[in-house]
Amino acid sequence: MGDELRVLLLGGGHAHLAVLAAAAGWPPGLAVTLASPDAHTAYSGMVPGVVAGHYPPHACQIDLERLAARSRVRFLRASAVALDPSARSVRLDDGRTLAFDLLSIDVGATPAVPAAFIDAVATGRVGPMVLAPCKPFPLLIERVERFLVDTEGTPGPLETCVVGAGLAGIELALALAHRLRGRHPDGMRVRLLSGEDRLLPTLPRRVGDRLARACAAAGVEMYLQARIGSIEPDGTLLAGDGRRFGARLALFATGAAPPRWLAGSGLALDSSGFVQVGATLESCSHPGIFAAGDCASVMQHPRPKAGVYAVRQGPPLATNLLRAATGRPRVPFVPQREALALVALGPRTAVAIRNGFALGGPAEGLLWRWKDHIDRRFVARA
Ligand SMILES: Cc1cc2nc3c(=O)[nH]c(=O)nc-3n(C[C@H](O)[C@H](O)[C@H](O)COP(=O)(O)OP(=O)(O)OC[C@H]3O[C@@H](n4cnc5c(N)ncnc54)[C@H](O)[C@@H]3O)c2cc1C
Repeated sequence: MGDELRVLLLGGGHAHLAVLAAAAGWPPGLAVTLASPDAHTAYSGMVPGVVAGHYPPHACQIDLERLAARSRVRFLRASAVALDPSARSVRLDDGRTLAFDLLSIDVGATPAVPAAFIDAVATGRVGPMVLAPCKPFPLLIERVERFLVDTEGTPGPLETCVVGAGLAGIELALALAHRLRGRHPDGMRVRLLSGEDRLLPTLPRRVGDRLARACAAAGVEMYLQARIGSIEPDGTLLAGDGRRFGARLALFATGAAPPRWLAGSGLALDSSGFVQVGATLESCSHPGIFAAGDCASVMQHPRPKAGVYAVRQGPPLATNLLRAATGRPRVPFVPQREALALVALGPRTAVAIRNGFALGGPAEGLLWRWKDHIDRRFVARA
């Protein structure tokens, strides 16, 4: 036992799924441990489909404990709360400290909730309003379900807001509109609040326009330059310019922030606080420490935070962990220049976005079936 090389995996994110699978074939002498707050992890591609009611919540869940057991990886149900990269140890929220020889971090990002909302999002309620962050996914799904139960049979139109209009916010707003349609006798209202002056400003205008048309067709009201800064005791959201948005449910899809426990650890971080790694996914400051997925920033290949890149990083991450364990040179990870995004539109339709173009129209039903097939296969094969 004492001679074993200790490999610690933090988080069961998309990249670590490939590492867990590869670990089944790793040679003896490696003692691999996975620490995750939950025995399951959610596959992000299916989450809007769960909100829309196309899938039951368990359909997007991947059983990490089972994957770990299959690969003789020790599973610990715990979260990392501190890292000392020089002492090569991690403190867990159950009080344990784990020493490691090799570390891999794939803990995702946390929602960048505006400061005024951190407490309200943590408790989940202000007055009659239910608040939900878009991550962790189980919490998002639980709170949407709680809102549906709370508002069953209540008078007045069912008012909801999605704060943040990136791809995730747009998909959630469309999913919600689909789920609520016809559910309430007095109708429903889904408002999508963007802090920008147009939808998806980092993409060509035609992509944002395509999704704006999808929102309009679904009855999702879009508000631009509506940067939400505070909340009133009755749950009304206030924009910086004084506009007021009352709602019984507010979903926050306001971007990705780094896990707070990484700050001040001594590990090299980028200017936003994500782990700086090279093309081999190894820390720029501490050899033997790797990071992948949303919590990492690959200096040579800046890309948006998306599950598709995290998934692609899995195989080279697994290779490099084994190479590091056996003292061999690492291999570089080369991401595709731009990933395909299949964006669900609420009902069983989707548009495809790639290289600045959005494809939909008569193909929308087919694109959804393709997305559904890819997503189900990913979860089934994990
Ligand atoms: C609504 C929505 C829809 C999306 N749809 C898509 C899509 O269709 N396509 C796409 O490419 N991207 C999509 N994304 C983005 C995608 O969710 C992320 O980019 C992706 O999940 C990142 O994967 P990851 O491996 O970094 O970590 P995650 O998938 O976030 O997993 C991190 C894991 O680490 C665990 N963890 C967290 N903190 C700790 C800790 N301290 N210690 C131990 N474990 C910890 C978590 O419990 C979790 O299991 C979507 C995002 C949202 C919000």
